[in-house]
Amino acid sequence: MKKFETEAIRTQTERTQFLEHSTPMYLTSSFVFNDAEDMRASFAEEKERNIYTRYSNPTCNEFVEKVCKMEGAESGFAFASGMAAVFSTLAALVETGDHILSARSIFGSTHTLFTNFLPKWGVTSSYFSIDDLDAAEALITPKTKIIYAESPTNPGVDVLDLEKLGQIAKKHNLIFIVDNCFATPYLQQPIKFGADLVIHSGTKLMDGQGRVLAGITVGSADLMDKVYRFSRITGPALSPFNAWVLTKSLETLAVRLDRHCENALKLAQFLEDHPKVSWVKYPFLKSHPMYEVAKKQMKAGGSIVAFEVKGGLEAGKKFFDSIKLLSLSANLGDSRSIVTHPASTTHSKLSVEERLESGITDGSVRVSVGLEHIDDIIADIKQALS
Ligand SMILES: *Cc1c(COP(=O)(O)O)cnc(C)c1O
Repeated sequence: MKKFETEAIRTQTERTQFLEHSTPMYLTSSFVFNDAEDMRASFAEEKERNIYTRYSNPTCNEFVEKVCKMEGAESGFAFASGMAAVFSTLAALVETGDHILSARSIFGSTHTLFTNFLPKWGVTSSYFSIDDLDAAEALITPKTKIIYAESPTNPGVDVLDLEKLGQIAKKHNLIFIVDNCFATPYLQQPIKFGADLVIHSGTKLMDGQGRVLAGITVGSADLMDKVYRFSRITGPALSPFNAWVLTKSLETLAVRLDRHCENALKLAQFLEDHPKVSWVKYPFLKSHPMYEVAKKQMKAGGSIVAFEVKGGLEAGKKFFDSIKLLSLSANLGDSRSIVTHPASTTHSKLSVEERLESGITDGSVRVSVGLEHIDDIIADIKQALS
């Protein structure tokens, strides 16, 4: 195994007879067989080969192989979106009667899946606060099959002790699943801390330029086999075109993340000293309540900064209306910096109480810090605050 950056650049599944230097794109729905015996043996899975793109495709395979190396995983499957990865992974593993124990602060659509849809098939969930993992352990029942978590969280930028949660999962023989979208494998590799499966929305920092939707799950070969069997039948596979975009994007993940994190830390430090800001949250600020844990499990603090504008909802809205350069958008992990106001947008359907549980106050702002020059990012936020 070479270094992370080298594997991200040099992992290449195959070259065609043209010996192209860059990654070829296999835009094909199916593959041909040499003869009847080849066809029979392929379908019997006596040989490993591509049959149909719903099952596998060389371009998708390259993307999967790269992410497996980056996460230290045995096997993986690529999906059309992050949510397709979340749903298919869970649906492949649970049965009626099973219980999922999940962190409360998780991606909104994942929360809705647990609360509104999985119960249709008799799968229940309960939630724990990420700052009290002992209380989490007490929620485990004989029906519990999976522990599910994210770190850092969206949009609160809270940090969860993955190693400790991994130990709890192991002690109770539970499948530990981590959505590692915010950190990316460059900053954090949950398998080292006991995760069995790692999920990503490739839409965010993996693509990094806001172009495609994608998702991926990687992890132990036996669990991934179940995910693969389910997914090749139900059809959530990633398009080879998007896989090609992603596999090229991963070549620059490390250099992009270095700059994202450098910019985010500078912005967080600027905001900490600003009189119109009541608090700032960034994993690599000493003031972050989980700073020590963040330092232990992450290489740098990530690209997301949360803060609160003094003056509540009104001040928050005024801040947003004054932003000139940054984008008001729901995406994150883009080269273009994005500001969002969770209380009036992504989390507006939650009660004030539920929002507070997810770390969102009325004046909370989430910045996905991009790759523009930091002076311009800070200048825009500074003028909007004043
Ligand atoms: C965006 C996101 C997802 C869902 O990914 P899509 O590609 O939008 O389906 C899941 N988890 C986290 C943490 C996300 O940020």
